[in-house]
Amino acid sequence: MPAPNIDTIVSLAKRRGFVFPSSEVYGGLGSAWDYGPLGVELCNNVKQAWWRWLVYERDDIEGIDSSIILNRLVWKYSGHEATFNDWLVDCRKCKGRFRSDKIVDNKCPSCGASDWTEARPFNTMLQTKLGAVADDDATALAYLRPETAQGIFINFLNVQTAMRRKLPFGIAQVGKSFRNEVTPGNFILRTREFEQMEMEYFVSPTAEHSQLVDYWVEQYLEWFGSLGINRDNLYLYEVPEDERAHYSKRTVDIMYKYFPEREKPWEELMGIAWRTDFDLSAHSKNKLDAEGKRINPESTEDLSYFDEATKQRFYPHVIEPAAGVNRTVLAVLMDAYSEKTNDKGETRVILKLTPQLAPIKAAILPLAKNKPEIVGMAKAIKRSLQPVLRAVYDDTGGIGKLYARQDEIGTPFCITVDHQSLEDEAVTVRDRDTWEQERIKVSELAEHLQKRLKPYPVAAAETI
Ligand code: ATP
Repeated sequence: MPAPNIDTIVSLAKRRGFVFPSSEVYGGLGSAWDYGPLGVELCNNVKQAWWRWLVYERDDIEGIDSSIILNRLVWKYSGHEATFNDWLVDCRKCKGRFRSDKIVDNKCPSCGASDWTEARPFNTMLQTKLGAVADDDATALAYLRPETAQGIFINFLNVQTAMRRKLPFGIAQVGKSFRNEVTPGNFILRTREFEQMEMEYFVSPTAEHSQLVDYWVEQYLEWFGSLGINRDNLYLYEVPEDERAHYSKRTVDIMYKYFPEREKPWEELMGIAWRTDFDLSAHSKNKLDAEGKRINPESTEDLSYFDEATKQRFYPHVIEPAAGVNRTVLAVLMDAYSEKTNDKGETRVILKLTPQLAPIKAAILPLAKNKPEIVGMAKAIKRSLQPVLRAVYDDTGGIGKLYARQDEIGTPFCITVDHQSLEDEAVTVRDRDTWEQERIKVSELAEHLQKRLKPYPVAAAETI
């Protein structure tokens, strides 16, 4: 049973230190969120799982970390200055402003009227100025990147030559992106500052591009499964041509059921796009248009690739799986949410996060906090586990309450130190999901936990 709605997660997230509304002491900042002690761990665990899966476990992907602010020309030639627009409409009745493609049944989401202005484009790149310049100095204009992908494209040749790569290979990057969203909202689903995990997979122009899109869709379905996201809550959307970005010949969106309570429950979790050779060509000095004119007279490099086998030079095509960290975290939280009734008939929340994603792996709880020997032993166990896994010590309540608190934040194991432990050098390990308890020797505890915490195996990702 996943969370019945996003609001359930919003209140759990705030109460338990996953996500707080940002700038709350000044009344907040619309749709900005801060990640608390548990939220930052969860985000890091998602990003690490992704990086491990693509960069470490495969043989064909390298990682990079490019700047957030790039030369403005990158955004000119990528097409973002001209086309990275949302279409805006104003409601003539309540003056509300909305994205035209998000209006359902032609009704204003605020007042229900259907009296709209003409749609007009609004560029959603966030602007800034570089250096100590006058307000009206246009040459200082720069953008906060709206996607991490361009930092990968402009480094294609650097990575390929430095790492002696042959096609096909990919470059992965995780980091912040910014979009001046017209109507942000729905918690961390749509914000102006967010984090992306993007990978550009470079292939020959004659590769089976559409099959490669399908391949990466399957890979990601498998990966989301390994994060505990239920396949039934995912849906594939073949994006029609008129909704695709300017560079795409095919895009499949993986949608998640973020709104189980609504008639239209799906919203995009990630997209997998065949971006053709658009970006590498667009940034290259030698690429000519149909009339033989250079399409980019300002580039100093040519991002083409020489294929030793065929002795041909070409611009590689790109398959791009682009996922959001925040939307993945929200889907993970919603699917992990469950409720269980205890012997006393009380309802308890259990966050069934996979062990690899759980912010805290083990909580060490003394059964008697006024017994120095027990407290000392519990603290020593916490310290001994800390180098191998994230552990906490807690003695701020009765044992029932302590268990309930850990269940609610998804801690897979509670370790209880009791009177008996002082004699038999053993502790009780309680499982979050079954509430079953097992007696384990302290000397074997770290190994026992590590075995049970092993990441869920993702099917071996074969190099194409
Ligand atoms: P949408 O149609 O929902 O605005 P998009 O199609 O513009 O999304 P992409 O450009 O494909 O999104 O970006 C790739 C991924 O980055 C998205 O699938 C999503 O996970 C994430 N993402 C994009 N915009 C936002 C945002 N404003 N807030 C949070 N995550 C975002």
